[in-house]
Amino acid sequence: MKIAIAGAGAMGSRFGVKLQSAGNQVTLIDNWDEHVTTIQQQGLTVTTDDGTDHVYHMTAKRPEEVTEQFDLVILFTKAMQMDQMLQQLSGVLGNQPTVLTLANGIGNVETIERHVPKDHVVAGTTVWSSSLTGPGHITVTGTGSISLQAIVPEKFPDLPGLIATLNGAGLNASPAENVLAAIWKKAGLNSVLNTYCTLFDCNIAEFGSLPNWRTLNDAVLNEFEAVATAAKIQFSAADVTALIAAQFDPSKNGGHYPSMHQDMAKKRPTEIDFLNGYVAKLGAKLNVPAPTNALLAQLIHSQESLKGIK
Ligand code: NAD
Repeated sequence: MKIAIAGAGAMGSRFGVKLQSAGNQVTLIDNWDEHVTTIQQQGLTVTTDDGTDHVYHMTAKRPEEVTEQFDLVILFTKAMQMDQMLQQLSGVLGNQPTVLTLANGIGNVETIERHVPKDHVVAGTTVWSSSLTGPGHITVTGTGSISLQAIVPEKFPDLPGLIATLNGAGLNASPAENVLAAIWKKAGLNSVLNTYCTLFDCNIAEFGSLPNWRTLNDAVLNEFEAVATAAKIQFSAADVTALIAAQFDPSKNGGHYPSMHQDMAKKRPTEIDFLNGYVAKLGAKLNVPAPTNALLAQLIHSQESLKGIK
């Protein structure tokens, strides 16, 4: 299959390597000039669990250099970069490839639908992970899985075929029954752990050790539940709280600093407007107040400003 990875950062590069290694024709597309040049000249270096480096020779292009058509476009930009990437790839999207997004945050499907007919869009969530260590270099640990669903299931021609392609690359994909609920669930978790760990400069276990973590957690998730209910999206604050509590164990995810914390440390923009910020905005539109989420979004934006992040 001819596959474009649009947004070939940490996750896009990891998926690109796996799909190419399984025999697909993969093109990495990215706007970070130095990253693209490094991959073109030296290949993509992947550091694995045991600390060894593996170099993969891959096709890498800037969006304006892409002229060919693809069967599948996997969008792996950050949520706030997606609209620009889709605009840049308008020529590529003319042939109506399947467009798959597994990016975090709420609202990505709405962004894609502004550029691609709904019938071609597949969305999901993933627990694979990866870090961009530098231009042309990722570090990967552990394994993961993908849960995905077509946005208009009755019109999408071949979801089993797409799942088979992903599974042929060992990506552990399976169909989701309610992908919007899954996206909101993951966003709820991220809107607690990412946001507070970033503000407090702590890891997940340290957040869980706070005597008032439940108060902080509930202030976010009760608003999520009220806004989701008004938007007719299935969301249970209790279920997400249980999932969050399960992350505190230091032998599991407790020692992990969430991605927003890493973005802030690297002076990169965060996805806050697609997490707490999205719920605050949607709440305002639906007349469901979400002041805690609105304030948290403002606090993260203030921290970005103080660090000179644009
Ligand atoms: P990333 O930051 O590694 O890459 C996203 C884009 O930002 C890429 O186009 C990349 O080239 C660009 N970029 C990164 N650093 C840059 C720099 N210093 N200068 C210029 N451009 C730079 O993002 P990611 O971690 O691959 O995440 C993609 C999506 O997947 C996000 O929605 C994220 O929340 C989600 N996600 C990530 C992980 C993870 O472990 N990384 C896990 C699950 C979901």
